[in-house]
Amino acid sequence: MRIADLTWLSKHVFFPLSDIKGRSHRRQYLREMSASQWWDAEKFQTWQIEQLRGAMSYAFAHVPYYTARYGAAGFKGTLQSWEDFRRLPFLRKEDIRRSGDGLISREFRRQDLVEARTGGSTGTALTLYFDRRCQELRNAAAMRSNQWAGWDVGMRVAAIWGNPPVADTLKKKLRNALLDRTIYLDTMDINQRSVHDFVMKWRRTKPKMIFGHSHSIYILAKYLEELGVRDLRPEGIISTSMMLLAPERRFIEQAFGCAVTDRYGCEEVGLIASECERHNGLHLNLDHVVVEFLREDGSPAKPGEDANIVVTDLINRGMPLIRYCLGDRGVPSDRICACGRGHPLMERVTGRQADFLKRPDGSLVAGVSLVERTLTAIPGIEQMQLVQNKLHRITVKLVKGGEFGDKSESALKRELRSVFGEAVVIEIQAVPALDQTGAGKYRFSICNV
Ligand SMILES: [Zn+2]
Repeated sequence: MRIADLTWLSKHVFFPLSDIKGRSHRRQYLREMSASQWWDAEKFQTWQIEQLRGAMSYAFAHVPYYTARYGAAGFKGTLQSWEDFRRLPFLRKEDIRRSGDGLISREFRRQDLVEARTGGSTGTALTLYFDRRCQELRNAAAMRSNQWAGWDVGMRVAAIWGNPPVADTLKKKLRNALLDRTIYLDTMDINQRSVHDFVMKWRRTKPKMIFGHSHSIYILAKYLEELGVRDLRPEGIISTSMMLLAPERRFIEQAFGCAVTDRYGCEEVGLIASECERHNGLHLNLDHVVVEFLREDGSPAKPGEDANIVVTDLINRGMPLIRYCLGDRGVPSDRICACGRGHPLMERVTGRQADFLKRPDGSLVAGVSLVERTLTAIPGIEQMQLVQNKLHRITVKLVKGGEFGDKSESALKRELRSVFGEAVVIEIQAVPALDQTGAGKYRFSICNV
């Protein structure tokens, strides 16, 4: 079957069928969000404070943590104004870790919620829970921002990130052929051979869109230059999960002959902001998140000022996060985008970094792609940081939790050796706390080689 036919079938038959089978409202949400993106800023603000009122009243009534904490702060259950909101206490990562089930709504059973463990780019492990409606809304938000980059349902795509799913059964192979339609380059293993294999797959399937971690796409572009490959020509590139540095962006756009759409989000609240087709700052995803840019003293930052990013989730009732300090920094904006969308802009994200570590053979490993197999997979690791000062030695700075034992240590060493090889010495160093960067952020991996 021709690729074009399959794209049509995937969009108009397999994708709707999969939603119907899974009883998903994702397509309905996408339709609603495709319409609301053209609301003007005023309509959006009125709508958003309504959503926020709803989320706050719900959390106060049904989530033990907020009932107690906001009660103590004098909150009566109905939000009167933005000023009221800004007086409420922050939620920090430590609060989430300490709260146990206290942040889960009494209306949900934990086992009915979707569980996610995250290390983020900050090196602090968290367990999060999402309700189903929230998951579907987040899916729709990601799809809407994909469309800003030129993506459409059913399109063939290439994904550049760590630990890609392995299609080892017939069912998974079929799913990938008909629905996901994705080829992968594993950022855990970027070298000449894996890039060569990826190029071969690309030439067979001709993806039209690249999704990936920004720096990983850059590394791929570097390899393509080295190999003299110039025929990978997608229609769009979506860069996520890391800061997209300006020189890297220019290099990527030259290598693939198309624009990069930068996007900012996190596991905790999903999509926070995304560029549109104008690439003129990032539109805040106000449909789902309240985004505050705050100075150290908690006062709101001015447009153009580098500030702490604090987010409030408007859609997750299972485990609401309100005034949550992400640990990222960014710059708010008062510019208006010529595209006509009512979502305000932010200029850029300034504090998000995950260094690449090196293997003895010179190949690179994305720090963020190690999070899932170490920090969030091995019990008893509260925080960790990988520091590489010499090619053959990686120091793991570790803040141990109560569950940490000999087994955790050997599992950690085993995972890292399987990635970096036996020749690399893995040194584990227990520390009371991790060092922070000047921006007040933890870095998961630091490469000084
Ligand atoms: Zn725009």
